Amino acid sequence: MSTTPTQQEAEPEEQYDSALVTARRQLERAATHVDVDEGVIERLKHPTKVQQVSVPLERDDGEVEVFTGYRAQHDDVRGPYKGGLRYHPEVTAEECTGLSMWMTWKCAVMDLPFGGGKGGIAIDPKSLSADETERLTRRFAEEIRDVVGPTKDVPAPDMGTDAQTMAWFMDAYSMQQGETIPGVVTGKPPVIGGSYGREEAPGRSTAIAAREAIQYEGHEVSETTVAVQGFGSVGANAARLLEDWGATVVAVSDVNGALYDPDGLATHEIPTHDEEAEAVLEQDAPQTISNEDVLELDVDVLIPAAVGNVITADNADAIEADIVVEGANGPTTFAADTILEERDVTVIPDILANAGGVTVSYFEWLQDINRRQWTLEEVNEELEDKMLSAWADVRDEVEAKELTWRDAAYVVALSRIAEAKATRGLWP
Ligand code: GLU
Repeated sequence: MSTTPTQQEAEPEEQYDSALVTARRQLERAATHVDVDEGVIERLKHPTKVQQVSVPLERDDGEVEVFTGYRAQHDDVRGPYKGGLRYHPEVTAEECTGLSMWMTWKCAVMDLPFGGGKGGIAIDPKSLSADETERLTRRFAEEIRDVVGPTKDVPAPDMGTDAQTMAWFMDAYSMQQGETIPGVVTGKPPVIGGSYGREEAPGRSTAIAAREAIQYEGHEVSETTVAVQGFGSVGANAARLLEDWGATVVAVSDVNGALYDPDGLATHEIPTHDEEAEAVLEQDAPQTISNEDVLELDVDVLIPAAVGNVITADNADAIEADIVVEGANGPTTFAADTILEERDVTVIPDILANAGGVTVSYFEWLQDINRRQWTLEEVNEELEDKMLSAWADVRDEVEAKELTWRDAAYVVALSRIAEAKATRGLWP
């Protein structure tokens, strides 16, 4: 998914916990609600492996620069590590490790036969020409070739990478292995083994999660107002689908700010980040507001779909939405989560809401193994089924144990992982 990458760059980084700290705290909190062996929780606090590599790049002007790349592999008890590769200046080993933990839960909550991985390169993708991006990606693929593979660890797009990045990665890997191996990455263009509907999938699942949450609270989508932060693949596809289903999307934003129309925006007319980067504010709307203000609008549903750590202890009290659906990974800090819980705001967590991406990645992986491409209708139907069954599993925990949706999603994931670990045992 290519979401806008630089929104929080001006913020001092120390202000928030890292993804790893948050992921560990969430795990500890969830562990209090499930009967899981202490040893299993201890093991899940640590990644299996974090690979760090140097990625030298010859710039277009002939100068050589060296960037640092990572691949964190958190847990593979249920199947190969799975998760994106991000190109972003703030990529670190710790960040990748935290994000790889979230992928473990995300795959387990969706009941996919995958574990969790995440990686990337600490680089601003906007500083690269297309040729430089290709060379960097091919070299990165080579540097981490030993740790990835269709049955080992399967990368996918994330912030700052897209289908073309995956195509280069797959080509570099295949050339070295001496055969075409489409299943080494997902999120590829359909012409080389990618899946129809993969690009739209995280936005589609976010919209499905919003729809289910709205109905669960006893309302109709057609009577609902929605604000979306971020107009990359996740935000744009979620906004457009919700509009198609009758919701009034009053605000959408990109890194420069937001369009606001209380009567509803025509979201299909607004170019996504991929169609035309940072062009949201160039469209007509009665009002423009700041990116921060989008979060505090008096709407029924708020969808943060840009970057992490945007709902914090500083603004959680000002959130007016009744339902927050996390399109981005980790948009709510641990402290903000507690405030929202106290204020009775329903938060549908990222590991459920945006899990359509990795779910259709799984469909893509199956299509690659079977050498049979599914139609878009098949993909969307299967995605709908998977989302509804994960939704029902999580809802059952919400109701049985009176948990938040995040805790309930963790309980579902953790129970599946713990059972797999107990059944396989600890070697030696
Ligand atoms: N990067 C996406 C995520 O955070 C997708 C991962 C995948 O498809 O493997 O869920």
